Amino acid sequence: EVILAIETSCDETAVAIIRGGTEIVANVVASQIESHKRFGGVVPEIASRHHVEQITIVVEEALHQSNMTFDDIDAIAVTEGPGLVGALLIGVNAAKALAFAHQKPLIPVHHIAGHIYANQLITPLKFPLLALVVSGGHTELVYMKEHVRFEVIGETRDDAAGEAYDKVARTLQLPYPGGPHIDRLAQEGEPLIDLPRAWLEDGSYDFSFSGLKSAVINTVHNAKQKGEDINPQTLAASFQASVVDVLVTKTEKAVQEYNVNQLLLAGGVAANKGLREALQQRFEKYSNVELVIPPLSLCTDNAAMIGAAASVLYRKDRRATMALNANPGLVLE
Ligand code: ATP
Ligand code: MG
Ligand code: FE
Repeated sequence: EVILAIETSCDETAVAIIRGGTEIVANVVASQIESHKRFGGVVPEIASRHHVEQITIVVEEALHQSNMTFDDIDAIAVTEGPGLVGALLIGVNAAKALAFAHQKPLIPVHHIAGHIYANQLITPLKFPLLALVVSGGHTELVYMKEHVRFEVIGETRDDAAGEAYDKVARTLQLPYPGGPHIDRLAQEGEPLIDLPRAWLEDGSYDFSFSGLKSAVINTVHNAKQKGEDINPQTLAASFQASVVDVLVTKTEKAVQEYNVNQLLLAGGVAANKGLREALQQRFEKYSNVELVIPPLSLCTDNAAMIGAAASVLYRKDRRATMALNANPGLVLE
């Protein structure tokens, strides 16, 4: 089947066309980063307005790139939530209008399910599996025994990994989104500053990054007061070492306990070079566990991942009615 998928949960207006749940026919992403940069973060009203302006153009571009018309499309999929309500609404209403006008089934998709299913565009999923989801709003270890059944075995108790990256970047006066900048600086420095690692209770797969974030802010503040210079490369490398250490160590424990066939990496922070390398190194010795890491373009927000997840839902006859609404607090389980 061929699915046209729409994703507008945050600051990317994205439309993709996916065949058979695995093949990317088109994958168009219109990023708004330039419009939000001067505010140091995503401004919801600006995001909504950009989505309204872009959505029709991006749908047409995806069809054009595919050399397809709506006659070739079997279903329309859309991110239902979570995300910014005003941003989600643009995608949901566009999807409803297209589904109604062209008489196509409408498939609602959870944004994080999408991030996880980005991996299906690389290789078939093999259950049971674990997914490490690290994004702007989520840090979760998700266990899956079968398709589209999600069990969150650990999650962040405060900041998400991406959020911590962005806040630390702001402290270092780096532009938004800061994750890629911290990543680049970290490659150039050594982790010489000892920063905290929140292991939490024994056996917990939960995460916490706010203590680490505060430690970084304090380090910068204290240096400033003493009139000392902080080496941004050293600080970025030290911060990244702490984040990656906790993520990889907890993931390894979970992989051992849950005895999975696959480990998937998902979400915007999955683009992080340090995390990708550390996971590859740590999981080399697990010859029974297939580590899957999507290319950078499928880690950050896109609609191809929504189309991949939608394909599974389509085959399970999961349909939304015209009463579908955006759900900013939609849960995964
Ligand atoms: P969610 O998916 O939880 O709803 P979101 O959609 O806003 O949140 P994503 O687009 O999945 O988040 O990811 C964006 C986040 O990824 C930002 O916080 C950004 O800084 C971070 N990020 C992107 N590239 C890197 C990188 N190389 N290293 C670290 N963080 C990165
Ligand atoms: Mg984004
Ligand atoms: Fe996302």
